[in-house]
Amino acid sequence: MGRAKDSSLKDELVEVRSSSVHGKGVFAKLAIRSGAVLGAYTGRRYTLDEVTKVSWNNSLTYLFELSDGTFIDGQAGGNPTRHLNHACEPNCEAYEARAADGGLTVKFRTTRSIRAGEELFLDYCLSIDEQDDSQDYPCHCGGRSCRGTMVGQAE
Ligand SMILES: [Zn+2]
Repeated sequence: MGRAKDSSLKDELVEVRSSSVHGKGVFAKLAIRSGAVLGAYTGRRYTLDEVTKVSWNNSLTYLFELSDGTFIDGQAGGNPTRHLNHACEPNCEAYEARAADGGLTVKFRTTRSIRAGEELFLDYCLSIDEQDDSQDYPCHCGGRSCRGTMVGQAE
C-alpha cells in the first residue's frame, strides 16, 4: 500500500502558494509535459435537487457540475486543486473520469507544456442563472482574449 496521505493532488508536480491573480494559486514545481494529470477535484457531493437549495453567492466558483447531474463543492472538504485560478487562456482543463467505485470524478490535466514556476489555470466557464449578472464574476486574467468574466460564453 502507498502512503495514507491525500493523493488527489500530485504534490511532486505542483504546489499551492499565493498568486498575483487571485488569492492562492497552483504552481508547477518543475517542467510538466502537456497532457499530464495533476490530480482530482474532491469535495462534498450534491445532487441537482440539493444544489438548488443552497445559496452559493460567490462560492459558486468552487462548484463543479458533472455530466451525470451531480456537483462537487470543493470548498467543503476539498483539496488543493480548488486553488486553481481562472484564466480565459488556460493551460489546464478539467475532464471527467470513472472512479474505482464506478462514480464520476473530475480530474485536471495540462493542455500544453508548462515551465517550472508557472501558475496553472483553468477556464471556469461558470454557468449562472439568467437573472444573475456575469459582471458579478469578473476576470482579471489580463489575457489578450480575456472576456472580462469567469462566466462561460452563451452558446
Ligand atoms: Zn480573463
